[in-house]
Amino acid sequence: MRANQSQQKPDEILSVPVFGRAVVIGSGIAGLTMARVLSRYVAELVIVERDSSAGESGTRPGVPQAHHPHNLHPQGQQILEAQFAGITEDLLADRAVSMGEPGDIAFHYAGGWHMARTDSRRPVLACSRALLERHLLRRLQADERIQIRYATEVAGLYTDSSGARVGGLFLRSRGRNGGGEVALDAEIVVDASGRRSRAPEWLAALGFPAPEEWRIDAQVGYVSRVYQRPASFDEGWKMLYIRPTPPEHTRGGIITPLEGDRWHVGLIGVGRDYPPMEEAKFLDYARSLPVLELYEAIREAQPLTRLYGFRGADNRVRRYDRLPRYLEGFLVAGDAAYALNPVYAQGMTAAVLAGQALDEALRSHPGLASGDIAGLSRRFQEALSEAVEGPWRQATRTDWRWPLTEVMDNTELLVGPWD
Ligand SMILES: Cc1cc2nc3c(=O)[nH]c(=O)nc-3n(C[C@H](O)[C@H](O)[C@H](O)COP(=O)(O)OP(=O)(O)OC[C@H]3O[C@@H](n4cnc5c(N)ncnc54)[C@H](O)[C@@H]3O)c2cc1C
Repeated sequence: MRANQSQQKPDEILSVPVFGRAVVIGSGIAGLTMARVLSRYVAELVIVERDSSAGESGTRPGVPQAHHPHNLHPQGQQILEAQFAGITEDLLADRAVSMGEPGDIAFHYAGGWHMARTDSRRPVLACSRALLERHLLRRLQADERIQIRYATEVAGLYTDSSGARVGGLFLRSRGRNGGGEVALDAEIVVDASGRRSRAPEWLAALGFPAPEEWRIDAQVGYVSRVYQRPASFDEGWKMLYIRPTPPEHTRGGIITPLEGDRWHVGLIGVGRDYPPMEEAKFLDYARSLPVLELYEAIREAQPLTRLYGFRGADNRVRRYDRLPRYLEGFLVAGDAAYALNPVYAQGMTAAVLAGQALDEALRSHPGLASGDIAGLSRRFQEALSEAVEGPWRQATRTDWRWPLTEVMDNTELLVGPWD
């Protein structure tokens, strides 16, 4: 059985599902990739999403960060392609922007311009988060064993009769005729509900230990909006990133190309040097960046949206890999486990790494042949922790250099959490 598993290609579906019903909480990037992997092992998969729709036209309340530029790291793109074969072509056909030539990405950091290493054979894609989610969802919706329940909020978990394994979830409808809680049985539950995950409380309510939490907060703020890309503007790049540099260059900004000849523009401030929400001051802040390229690009450009702000994007890890006791069958992925300072553009990649970690954990799970879930939670959380070690170190080691960075008491930092 295991030999067959290791030869299995990502897109193949097991002829006999190993587990019964799995439920994924949240239809963000982590939820959708975890669902993709799980769907190959279960008889039925339900994605429970608090928002009322997939947000065809743009953003949705459950993902406020989508109002800000999102760039997918090449590693994340590669993993997505492995899990959703052909997704790169689909996105390109739906007007995602391809960045493959040297010079397509202008990157300013530490007082100088740096050339991003790009490869036209494997271009880096840029598009809105909504477009990416839409394509991932479309793939999942093509599988009749997968069901998505919108406007439904998870309120808690329950165990099965053993008290050691997850038994299901309590759901609350958010529709007009809401009503009370209903139970949904599940053999596997994945929490991919993002930064505001309530999994520690859900575990505690069942008498299971909550994870240790580490937090390193560089006091980052974003203010962003979408612009029409000026037809006449000859910028010589497709994407521009002026990244804040510790300890003193607290201001930065980014222009990411979006489908439909648009730019997603974000101003970034670290160490509480937050960009302003007022129109005139927004441009002043852009002019105050270490180089003028971003200001010059947007000063005559036509805004297509209002300004959106975001604060509170700290680095926060919940050490589910170190729990003394696990609720078997319950897994935590994406920002719910590892939320990173977005300045380093690693969050979506960390989210899809969770899918890859689950794939590995399932393939090597001793109970796979018999459908025994015991041990999978620990195996997965450990694999995830190993996978996200690099992004966590990069973000926290740099953030630690900002004078105003706050580090939560018990956080292990200098030698890195995994040393
Ligand atoms: C300003 C900003 C800019 C960023 N830029 C980048 C970038 O350039 N590149 C990058 O890779 N990453 C970036 N990120 C990080 C990225 O957004 C996250 O890492 C990523 O979205 C995590 O995905 P997720 O699926 O874990 O969570 P989310 O995308 O937050 O999804 C969580 C989902 O769960 C749902 N949900 C929540 N609670 C419940 C509940 N109780 N019941 C049912 N559903 C629920 C929500 O509605 C939502 O759909 C940025 C983040 C911020 C804040």
